[in-house]
Amino acid sequence: MKLLRYAIDGETYVGLLNDAEILRLGLRDMTELMPTEAAFVETGLLDKLDDARILPPLQPGKILAIGRNYAEHARELGNEAPSEPLVFAVMPSAVIADGDLIEWEADMTAQVDWEGELAVIIGQTARRVSAEEALDYVFGYTIANDVSARDLQTRDKQWTRAKGLDTFCPLGPVVVTADEIPDPQRLRIATTVDGVEMQNGSTADMIFDVRFLIAYLSRAFTLNPGDIILTGTPSGVGKAQNPPQFLGEGSVVSVAIEGIGKLTNRCRVL
Ligand code: MG
Repeated sequence: MKLLRYAIDGETYVGLLNDAEILRLGLRDMTELMPTEAAFVETGLLDKLDDARILPPLQPGKILAIGRNYAEHARELGNEAPSEPLVFAVMPSAVIADGDLIEWEADMTAQVDWEGELAVIIGQTARRVSAEEALDYVFGYTIANDVSARDLQTRDKQWTRAKGLDTFCPLGPVVVTADEIPDPQRLRIATTVDGVEMQNGSTADMIFDVRFLIAYLSRAFTLNPGDIILTGTPSGVGKAQNPPQFLGEGSVVSVAIEGIGKLTNRCRVL
């Protein structure tokens, strides 16, 4: 299933996307579908995708993110490939939808960068689960852009502001349920900026795969339905370009993942 959360005339709905049509479900929140097998009610109502304003697929409880999870990306920024996952948190308040504006103040940061990432959505409570059973806890997958203010990332020493500014976590547009992606380690992931391809990798190249990450994180934190894991970005970020290239006023950044779709956002400098 491709699930979408959207608004029409100020009302919020969850639906099943089928080409340009949305089959409206009798729910307000995708977490009502969790865990993986929850039943849902079809209302029989069809909405047109063109009439809908796309919303973030869900409001995550927590967002756990993994840095330097592709060796080539670690290298391009002059870092060693980590021997254990580099875990940080992204503010849930940073989440925006496909089509929303990524915004920042010019006197806050001048080095806003893109990071296209596969996002894993947890569907049932996971605490100390094994890697073998880890995928059973996944509700589905979506696309994220782990937008990063490189100057703040360097200056602050830790990444809370750099990765967590309002609007810095575009997510969506759809969630593809886990049954349709039995192996999350064989997906193409590509990022374009103003139509120019900057990143093109495969989730096969993750250093720590989705199974390992869920098991690893679930030893530290109880993972709850609606929590999200950002699995790291392939090489091709702006800071690694020669000369470095960053997002600016009007930049349009799109992240596409095979089998899921495309997440597109325009930038506005305040
Ligand atoms: Mg990242």
